[in-house]
Amino acid sequence: MKKIILLLIGLSIISCKDVKKGVNDGYNDARENKEKITLHVFDGGKIIANKLDLFSEDTTYTGQSKMLADAFYVIQHPKGNLIWDGGLPENLVGMPEPFTDPSGAFTVSRKDSVVNQLKTIGLTVDDFKYIALSHSHFDHVGHANAFKNSTWLVQENEYYFFTSDSAQVKQADIYNMIKELKNVQKLNGDHDVFGDGTVVIKSMPGHTIGHQVLYLNIGLEKPLLLTGDLYHFDDNRTYKRAPMFNYDIPMTKKSMEAFEAFAKEKNADVFIQHSQADFDRLQTLLKK
Ligand SMILES: [Zn+2]
Repeated sequence: MKKIILLLIGLSIISCKDVKKGVNDGYNDARENKEKITLHVFDGGKIIANKLDLFSEDTTYTGQSKMLADAFYVIQHPKGNLIWDGGLPENLVGMPEPFTDPSGAFTVSRKDSVVNQLKTIGLTVDDFKYIALSHSHFDHVGHANAFKNSTWLVQENEYYFFTSDSAQVKQADIYNMIKELKNVQKLNGDHDVFGDGTVVIKSMPGHTIGHQVLYLNIGLEKPLLLTGDLYHFDDNRTYKRAPMFNYDIPMTKKSMEAFEAFAKEKNADVFIQHSQADFDRLQTLLKK
């Protein structure tokens, strides 16, 4: 009997040590990874929202227009690279004039292709393990097809919404910009991209059915949150205004609540992707 007890005690000591070692390893991995993670922000074009009233459920913005940035991001992680968002369509690159859509709602332009922009940090499109889009609207899928060798991290409902047989016809312009992405990892909720808590996709539906934001805990002073299109500018974050063209406005408001609670819990620095001021602020932060 004594022998058995001793054996059990012995085993439990070993397993405790193993657990501790595992926890420490995980902790060290995350810490070491953080030191090696780099973030870059790029210009995916400019949008003039000529009818800003589209960005509220009421008449608050009637008669106003606003210039919106259109950022995309590269995260270099020891376990692989991730590109977050796809900017405006690349056929705008080299156009002599900005393009205004037939409805007159948006005037758009894009200066440079993703291939050229990645060159500035010594990368090619083949260096990316993952591509993730905050959502599948025209100003976020522009260069998606270039990442056909990467794995597309997409919410399952978003994937079917934008690739179904009917979507291929009704939203052909969008479909044509994502159709080369054949390596698909369908998500149902939040997803820790590298398994160490440093880069986490958070499900925040409403703007589209499977809209998502990105949490980055990468060794900067504070963790960062990239909003996708949960908010388009400061004012609609302050007043929790949702664009009238959102897939589901009550769902958006719920996501806004969840987002703010999470941002508070993590003491995260929030960057609105369509805000030029936030674009400039992030560039400055990353140069430090
Ligand atoms: Zn957008």
